[in-house]
Amino acid sequence: MSEPEKAVEALRARGFRLTPQRVMVIAAVAEGGRHMGVDEVLQRARAKYPYMDVATVYRTLHLLKEIGIVTEVAIGDRLHYELTDAQGHHHHMVCRTCHGAFNLSPHYLEEFRRTLTQEFGFAPDLDNFAIGGVCSQCRTQGQGAAS
Ligand SMILES: [Zn+2]
Ligand SMILES: [Zn+2]
Repeated sequence: MSEPEKAVEALRARGFRLTPQRVMVIAAVAEGGRHMGVDEVLQRARAKYPYMDVATVYRTLHLLKEIGIVTEVAIGDRLHYELTDAQGHHHHMVCRTCHGAFNLSPHYLEEFRRTLTQEFGFAPDLDNFAIGGVCSQCRTQGQGAAS
């Protein structure tokens, strides 16, 4: 089963009706290459179903988030959505130039988490942690433009 099929199946298994709108929102999030804003989900769903409205997208994303099929990621001042990572949680690197979000597996931050706990007795909430910067593609393009 593909990822979107698994997500649709998870929805059905929990007793939710598989309305076309719900299936389309799942497909839009899945096909969108991850980390889609609400507007992008709406655009993608509308390409297949012009009557889709933003309220339905919000409501559906909220439902999918509540039952754990979709994860909401706060990136800057925008909320992004992706299918929940079956491998567990991951963090994000966010490009300030193209606004792309890239997954960062949790082991990269384990040392950081330990340090904060040992040195400061602080238990960090890293679930929504995102690191800002410039992605490799934008860096390459930036160098090209500067020379
Ligand atoms: Zn970039
Ligand atoms: Zn992600």
